[in-house]
Order: sequence, then structure tokens, then C-alpha cells
Amino acid sequence: MSAHIIDGNALSRQLRTEVAARVQALKAKGVTPGLAVVLVGDHPASQVYVRNKVKACEDTGLHSVLEKYEASMSEATLLARVAALNQDPSIHGILVQLPLPDHIDAHKVIEAISPAKDVDGFHMASAGALMTGMPGFWPCTPYGCMKMLESIGYELRGKHAVVIGRSNIVGKPMALMLLQKNATVTICHSATADLKAMTLQADVIVAAVGKRGVLTADMIKPGAVVLDVGMNRNDQGKLCGDVDFAGVQQVASHITPVPGGVGPMTITMLLVNTLEAAERASN
Ligand code: NAP
Repeated sequence: MSAHIIDGNALSRQLRTEVAARVQALKAKGVTPGLAVVLVGDHPASQVYVRNKVKACEDTGLHSVLEKYEASMSEATLLARVAALNQDPSIHGILVQLPLPDHIDAHKVIEAISPAKDVDGFHMASAGALMTGMPGFWPCTPYGCMKMLESIGYELRGKHAVVIGRSNIVGKPMALMLLQKNATVTICHSATADLKAMTLQADVIVAAVGKRGVLTADMIKPGAVVLDVGMNRNDQGKLCGDVDFAGVQQVASHITPVPGGVGPMTITMLLVNTLEAAERASN
């Protein structure tokens, strides 16, 4: 068997077309959804990420502002910028690119963002909303994974989902979203005694670790759906995920590639959240 590949680029194109149409409808009512992206320092990967986010906004008709600051920027100045963006009516979503320089408390900065503009879904209010099933913003990466499952018509009710990784931005919210859709969820992490024993029971596996080769073909049951969130480099320096794609593809029913899988979906869901924020603000 060779698994069906869930194409994150194709699904993103489809969703972005829908976003662009909703943006036009909102613009007709006099509201242009706006995203502010704040970058502090010159972390090379972050520069690429923010550029891609701004370009995605431009391509779908959203207004975007990129604010770049020196790594020496003080925490107080950054907090003042966030406070100003909270008050800016042309901005509906605020994204502070992580990581921040060591002298800035990232938690404090995220908590300073108005929950109504927390389109990254990292604020504690957003986390609480997800946990309690209330309206809020879902973190973009796991939200994108849910859209990928939806795109293949996958019914999660009664299925066993195993999430590998328990970070606040991927693993934990992923588990909560799967739970909300009535899957039975197991969360694995670095202290899990026997990862293979867990993954072999899974109907759905989400790998969000950041180590290549964490999930191999012998660790999954035939027909499992495998979503690969990991972003790593192989020996040739090429982007790869956590999953041994070539091997797992022979056993799984569906699999996401890296690149071209979860990555583009993350940016797409940022656009969706920003649009949603603008729609809520306009109502
Ligand atoms: P993170 O904060 O470093 O979390 C990694 C998790 O993996 C931790 O919970 C850790 O366990 C667990 N882990 C480490 N080694 C393990 C092992 N051998 N077996 C099982 N679990 C293990 O990373 P993250 O921010 O969640 O990101 C995870 C990966 O996704 C990274 O490669 C990141 O670059 C990628 N990512 C991709 C996107 C995208 O758009 N495609 C977005 C975000 C992140 P402990 O908690 O016990 O330490």
C-alpha cells in the first residue's frame, strides 16, 4: 500500500481562495482585515517566517504591517508597541514572532496582546477557551492539522489519536482539538516509556517533536493516518519532518509530506484567524 498524500499546498490554495472571497465581502462593508507582525532581532528562520506571513496577507487581500526592531529593543518598549497595536482599529490580529531575545519575557509579551487580537492563539485566554470549548483563537499549526483531517473526511469519533509532543503551541492544543472531536487521545513526550507501544495502537498519529526519524514504519498500524508537524534538516541539509516518510508511506493510509504539508497550513490558518478577528470586530 502507498498512502494518500495530504497536500498542504493544494488545501492551502483552496482555503486561501475562500479567505480572499470573505476578505472582499468584508472590504465591501468598509473593513479591511489587518495583521501586525512584530519581529525583534535578526533570527534567520524568523525572518523567512515573517516574510512568508506578510506575503500570504498581500496575496489574499489582507492589510499587513511588518514591524522590525533591533535585538537590543527593551521589553518595556515592546510592551508599549503591543499596547499601541491593541488600540489600533486597522489591526485585527497581532503576531509577535518567537523566539524573542533572552532579555525579553515572551510570556509577558504574549499576555499583553489583547485576546481579541491573539491570532496566534498563544494567550492564556485562548488556551482556556480551547480547553473549555468556548469561542477563541486556535493555535494555527494544530488548527491546520484539524483542517487536513477534515479535508479527507476523516471521522474522529471513537478513534484513537496519539500526539507525540506536548508543547503549548502544538502538542497540547492538538490533543484538545482531537478530544473535542471525540477521539480518544494519548499524549506522548520525552519521558514516555514505550513510544512504539502507544503509536501501534493509534488510528491517527500527530508527530510534533522536532527530531527526524521519531516515527518509523514498524511503529504504526496498517491504515493509520499520519500528520507530520516536525521541521528538521536531513544530512543533505534539506527540510524534513519527524516521520520516516518513505517507510511510513508504505503502511499508512494517509500521510502529510514535509515540505508541503502542515507548514503551509499554519500560515493559512493565521489568515483565517485574522479574518475571523476582523469579522468579529465588525459585528
Ligand atoms: P518543542 O516545544 O521542542 O516540543 C517538542 C516535544 O517533543 C516536547 O513535548 C518533547 O517532550 C517531545 N519529545 C522530544 N523528544 C521526544 C522523543 N524522543 N519521543 C517523544 N517525544 C519527544 O517543539 P514544538 O514547538 O512543539 O515543535 C515541534 C516540531 O514542530 C519542531 O520541529 C518545530 O519546528 C515544528 N513546528 C512546525 C510548525 C509548522 O508550521 N510546520 C509549527 C510549529 C512547530 P518533553 O515535553 O518531555 O520535553
